[in-house]
Amino acid sequence: MKNEFWQCPVCGQPDNSTARCPVCGTDQSAPQSVPVGNTSRHAGDNRSEILVVGAGIAGVAAAEAARKFDENARIVLVGEERELPYYRLNLTRFLAGELPMEKLPLHPRQWYENRRIELFTGESVIRMDPVHKTILTTKGRNWCYDRLVLATGSRPAVPPLAGTEKKQIFTLRTLNDAQTLIKACDRGTKALVVGGGVLGLEVAAALASRGGEVTVVEDFDWLLPRQANPAAGRHLARRLEQQEIRLLCGQRVAEIFGGESVEKVVLESGEELVTNLLVFSIGVHCAVELAVAAGLKTRRGVLVDDQLRTSDPSIFAAGDVAEHRDTIYGTWFPAQAQGVVAGRNAAGLEASFSAIPRSNNLRVLDIDLYSIGDIAPEQKNVKTLEEDTEDGYYFFAFQDDSLIGAILMGDVTPAPRLKTLVESRASCEALLKGARNGADIRQRLMNA
Ligand SMILES: Cc1cc2nc3c(=O)[nH]c(=O)nc-3n(C[C@H](O)[C@H](O)[C@H](O)COP(=O)(O)OP(=O)(O)OC[C@H]3O[C@@H](n4cnc5c(N)ncnc54)[C@H](O)[C@@H]3O)c2cc1C
Repeated sequence: MKNEFWQCPVCGQPDNSTARCPVCGTDQSAPQSVPVGNTSRHAGDNRSEILVVGAGIAGVAAAEAARKFDENARIVLVGEERELPYYRLNLTRFLAGELPMEKLPLHPRQWYENRRIELFTGESVIRMDPVHKTILTTKGRNWCYDRLVLATGSRPAVPPLAGTEKKQIFTLRTLNDAQTLIKACDRGTKALVVGGGVLGLEVAAALASRGGEVTVVEDFDWLLPRQANPAAGRHLARRLEQQEIRLLCGQRVAEIFGGESVEKVVLESGEELVTNLLVFSIGVHCAVELAVAAGLKTRRGVLVDDQLRTSDPSIFAAGDVAEHRDTIYGTWFPAQAQGVVAGRNAAGLEASFSAIPRSNNLRVLDIDLYSIGDIAPEQKNVKTLEEDTEDGYYFFAFQDDSLIGAILMGDVTPAPRLKTLVESRASCEALLKGARNGADIRQRLMNA
């Protein structure tokens, strides 16, 4: 049996009744299916206890998928955050004041009740005992499980610098973090964002929209070092500077000064920046503590096979915490897709997750950016075509007539088509024929 679910072709948000994706704004007129593997039920499985630890998108997707395929199982979903599971990727829009809090939850409480998913919020799992198949929570509850899905996500990294414990120093991962930041940022607040990746830029934009005077410090020589090449990074830098966000690339924070609260930051270059709000956005660590303590195999994340099974056959892992074929995706759509696979398998089916090319979809200060696949190819037989204009930057990398990577900055309309081409590795002979530059490729993609 072939299993498919429909979703936004760019950010992976499941298909919905609106014309535009509520998450990334993509026109939903061209949805595409994402195969999540073949499934077949194990013989002889009856009512079971399925426990999902972590109520982010991976955990919710796992619980939902498990219920779809096992009507009878007891399904418990435990999450340490107080709120109903929500669209974490919309936190920056919430921070910018573009989205009210009511729009954040993934589903109302009733949705969980209707599916007989027992949701416990504000409660952490503090111990997992794979031998007796039990877990213990902060509220002293002991639960047994037959199968467990670990979906504990990741936690923001903070550099090992003196002074990071001072007040007015933040990270952004949770709704609670966003609410704290909103209270801390007034008009004229001198805000420093450390990290010029996707999240850092979105935070910078959000703080600027709240009246903060924002500076971004990035270690690399260009912005978005993981999602864009230097040319795209420079293009973005020009656009952000027009929005009065100061950018300092190729710089690092050396020291943090202040009393109780941060007051000044000194960079390795010696430059001093008056700072009354500091946000670190330098990456995340997988939340592997429970797995490590339980003796599961981990590296940066919890190691899983194609069925998303960990080194313990009764425990699956999905989302930001999972390391699959050396990859930790760290983004929404793979977390959701892995949640579905892990949930199905926890319900006794055999679903598999195949590696998917990384893609990024970012909107910052009205600039859209989409990148997918290999955006800094070093192989000799790769042909690259670019287009750099006032309004945008576009980059395409082809190997053996197949598209292996692309960047769209400005008009991201061809993103779904690019995603299909990169994922399928289909021949692009017709697209390439006679193309002189990136503009030709983009024009052809738009006309396709
Ligand atoms: C501000 C922000 C913006 C983002 N924007 C984008 C974007 O535009 N596009 C994109 O693709 N991705 C984006 N991401 C990344 C995306 O949100 C994550 O990849 C995704 O949320 C991962 O889902 P997850 O369920 O694996 O983990 P998480 O969302 O981290 O959820 C894990 C949950 O488990 C809970 N938990 C942890 N330990 C325990 C425990 N012991 N017991 C109980 N509960 C526990 C955590 O509190 C958390 O609620 C963004 C992330 C942030 C923070």
